Amino acid sequence: MPELPEVETIRRGLEPHLRGRTFTAFETGDLKVFQFDLLELCRLEGQTVTSLGRRGKYLLVVMKREILVIHLGMTGQLTLRDPGSADSSRFLRQETTGLQRIRQHAPDKHTHLQILLDDGRTLMFRDVRKFGKVHLLKNDGAAVAAFFAHMGMEPLDDSYQLQPFLKYLKNRKQRVKSLLLDQRFVAGVGNIYADEALFEASIHPATRVRYLRRYQKERLFEVIPVVLRKGIEFGGTSLRDYVNSDGESGSHQQNLQVYGREGQPCYHCGQPIQRIVISQRSSHYCPCCQTR
Ligand SMILES: [Zn+2]
Repeated sequence: MPELPEVETIRRGLEPHLRGRTFTAFETGDLKVFQFDLLELCRLEGQTVTSLGRRGKYLLVVMKREILVIHLGMTGQLTLRDPGSADSSRFLRQETTGLQRIRQHAPDKHTHLQILLDDGRTLMFRDVRKFGKVHLLKNDGAAVAAFFAHMGMEPLDDSYQLQPFLKYLKNRKQRVKSLLLDQRFVAGVGNIYADEALFEASIHPATRVRYLRRYQKERLFEVIPVVLRKGIEFGGTSLRDYVNSDGESGSHQQNLQVYGREGQPCYHCGQPIQRIVISQRSSHYCPCCQTR
C-alpha cells in the first residue's frame, strides 16, 4: 500500500508537469472509486492546476475553485502518459507492476480515471483492487478542514511536535503497532514504515502503549520522520504495485531493516527477523533488538 513516502514521491514527480496545465477532458472507468457525482467533472474542464499538495496518504490536485483528492488505497497508481512517446509493444510489460515502461503504458481495464491535459498528456489513475478513492472538494479552508478533520499530525511539518505526540500516547491501551497505523495519530504511516520506525526505536511492536517508557516515546517521535524521509529519498518502496508518476519502481525496498524480511538475519545482531500478526496486519521485528 502506498504510504506517505510513496505519495510524496508521486506528488513531487507530477507537480512540475501539472502546475499551470488546464484540464480539457475526462474519461472514467469503474464508478466505485468516485466519491462524488461524475456530472461534477464537467465543471473541472477548463480549470487550471495551481499546485499539488499532500495530507497523509492523500494527494491533492489543487485548482482555483476545486480540489481533487486522491487516495491510492492498496494498489493505486497515478502516472502521466505522453502519447508522443507511447509504444504499445506488449513486450515492455513490467512483471511486478503490470504497467508497461515509463510513458508508454496504455490505459487498460484497471484505469479508472484519465484526465486529458492541454499539452496532450494524460494523467491516469489505475487501481487493480479498487480500494482507491477520488474525492472532489471545494477549494475553501472550511471544506478542506472538514474533510481532514479526523487526520492526525503531519510528520514532516512544523506542526509535528513532541508535546501533542506524548499527550496522544497517554494511557492508551492498544499495542504500539496498532496505534502507529491509526491515521488519527500520525498521518501517512502505514505497515512498512511503522515496522521500520519501531525497529529504529528498538520497540517491540506488540508493546502496549501505556507501558512504553518516556525515552522510548521520545525515540519513536524522533525516528518516524527519519524513516519517512529516507523512503522519499529512495523514491518510495516498491514491493508489488507501487510506481512513481513515470511508471518506475522505487528503490527503498533494498534498505528495509525488518519489513518483509521474515527469517532473514537482522543486520544488527544476526537473529532471524520474525513476523507476527497484530490487528490483522503483519508485523516484522527483531526479537533481539526490539524489546517490550
Ligand atoms: Zn537484531
